[in-house]
Parts: sequence; C-alpha cells; structure tokens
Amino acid sequence: MNMTKNLLQIALLGHPVLRKKAQRVKSIKERAVQSLIDDLIYTVMDANGVGIAAPQVYRSLQIFIMASHPNERYPNAPEMPATPVINPKITHYSEETELDWEGCLSMPGVRALVPRSKTIKVTFQDREGNKHCDEYEGFIARIFQHEYDHLNGLVFFDRLDSLKDIYMEKEYKKIISTHKLVRYDIIC
Ligand SMILES: [Zn+2]
Repeated sequence: MNMTKNLLQIALLGHPVLRKKAQRVKSIKERAVQSLIDDLIYTVMDANGVGIAAPQVYRSLQIFIMASHPNERYPNAPEMPATPVINPKITHYSEETELDWEGCLSMPGVRALVPRSKTIKVTFQDREGNKHCDEYEGFIARIFQHEYDHLNGLVFFDRLDSLKDIYMEKEYKKIISTHKLVRYDIIC
C-alpha cells in the first residue's frame, strides 16, 4: 500500500479552478479520494493553516479540511483534530453576524475583516461516508463558511462589506500589535 503523503501545490486567486462550483464526491471510499484527503491534511498542516478546500489544490471536488489548532499565528484557536468534510451543505445561517480577520492560502499576504454568520447548521459526510448534522459557532463556523465558499467558487473578497476592509499583511500585523481587537484570525 502506498502511504506516501504529498505536499500539494496551492492554486492562487485568478486561477479559474477557484471560481468553479465543485462536484459532489460520489465514491468517498475510492482510493484516489482517500489519498487526496490525506494529502490535503498534510498540506494544510505544512502551511500552518486552519483549513483547506480541494479546489485550492486544483481539484474541483466538494471536500475540505477543518484543522483548527492553537499556534503562534492563532493562539486563541480551539483545538480540533483535522476533520475532513465531504459534500457539505449549510442549511441555516444565523442572521447575527460577526466581523473578524481572515486570510487565505490562495491569497497570500492579504487579510480582511470578513462578516460571517455567528452560528450555522450544517450537514456533511465524513471520510467513511457517514452523514453528520452539526451546529457550529464562532471560529469553527467561520472556517466552515470560508471553506464552503471555496466549493462554490467564492473567496472572502466576495463577502466584504467594503473594499476598505482589505489590509496587506504587514499593515494588519501593525494593527493587531497595537489594538487588542482580534480574538481570532484565520488563514484557510
Ligand atoms: Zn481560503
């Protein structure tokens, strides 16, 4: 059995794969799908991200990984094992939204204050094909919404209230070092 994990190349904004609707995964147990999941986990960990979606590695499939973990970049992030999410649906978005920082592996060097629903209800399948119904809030809900958008050809720029909420990373770092405005920030 081939246990090699591969570091995958990340598609950057402007590549059409990031603007396509991803296809449903029909055979989750298929070896190619399972090794794509392993490679996505390996790649997001290597990049120190908290999430990654298959279109970000040029595969237009409804798969993403949530990988929240506290580290230097996100000291307040909740700890969770890398969780593969397949064929997801967000069935409810709370009307209440929160503004917080996001980055994206496909848009390096840029951060923005992105409004997201505070809580969401979701359904998805895990890597065994089992169905899950869950409710998420806060940081995890934010990662889920960011990754779910990637499966629908959207990036966080499409969600902004104002283009003035875009910052280059260097300026963002100045802001967060002088203000304690930030609870979480994510790159996925
Ligand atoms: Zn992203």
